[in-house]
Amino acid sequence: MSALLVLDDVHVRFNTAAGQVQAVNGVSLDLAVGETLGLVGESGCGKSTLGKAILRLVPTSAGEIRIDGADIAPLDGAALTELRRKVQMIFQDPYGSLNPRSTVGRSVAQPLVLAGWKRDAIAERVDMLLSWVGLPPEARQRYPHEFSGGQRQRIGIARALALNPKLIICDEPVSALDVSVRAQVINLLEDLKAKVGMSYLFISHDLSVVEHIADRVAVMYLGTIVEIGSRDRIWREPQHPYTRALLAAAPIANPKLARARRRTILQGELPSPLDPPTGCPFHSRCPMAQARCKVEPPSLRAIGVGTQAACHFI
Ligand code: SF4
Ligand code: MG
Repeated sequence: MSALLVLDDVHVRFNTAAGQVQAVNGVSLDLAVGETLGLVGESGCGKSTLGKAILRLVPTSAGEIRIDGADIAPLDGAALTELRRKVQMIFQDPYGSLNPRSTVGRSVAQPLVLAGWKRDAIAERVDMLLSWVGLPPEARQRYPHEFSGGQRQRIGIARALALNPKLIICDEPVSALDVSVRAQVINLLEDLKAKVGMSYLFISHDLSVVEHIADRVAVMYLGTIVEIGSRDRIWREPQHPYTRALLAAAPIANPKLARARRRTILQGELPSPLDPPTGCPFHSRCPMAQARCKVEPPSLRAIGVGTQAACHFI
């Protein structure tokens, strides 16, 4: 499969009143056409910031982001508009991303209007998008507050699909929903992927959701990727101490895996990205840490076919 998205040593820094925040610290990964890559880690580890950088909603301070082989940093005018068509984002809070004073029809039509579509074509497309996400055509005349959280997320998905994107960045798309409707929205995202043929970068701190939807998984800690590999390999034999700790804390459906998984309890808090630890970013919480870990940062390197981890002792 060819790479749709390539991140090459991407850094994102913010200046705040309290100092410089290193939100993303040298992330390299790629995403193939048609693939779902799960991006997991505790909240505050830089997942959402990385997602926004791919849409150029936040500036990178170093490194390169390529989509379809083209560096996105210099894009402007029509080329930037085309990037925003190709790459869409679905947010955690669908209510916050929908205008409460706009009917659902107008919200879903907005990207089409901006792209210069004709009225009749827009009406037809909106009906089709609503049917794809399981909403009746009458939904067009109604307002976001008349819908449940799960239905609002369907409206947000319909709008994201309006212009046939190649990549959708799903940022905790089901975290705000009742457990009972999460599976419906996840199944909908899977069905739509098969129908439309796009890729997902699926950001979540909820490992059970990622286990369900992802082909590959990248584990992020304090702005860096600590392990990346196929979902099955990571779930079966996580290598990095942080991945092991995350998985040990998650509920496990498969009892065989539960036995195989060595228990590692994650201690302490995520350090502040204002003042990240020296050496390995995980050393302050790692049960395997040695003196070397405090001074020497491990680099992400191959530990098997299609698998990489960043630890001196793997
Ligand atoms: Fe733990 Fe050291 Fe490996 Fe970092 S490099 S994960 S501190 S053992
Ligand atoms: Mg987030």
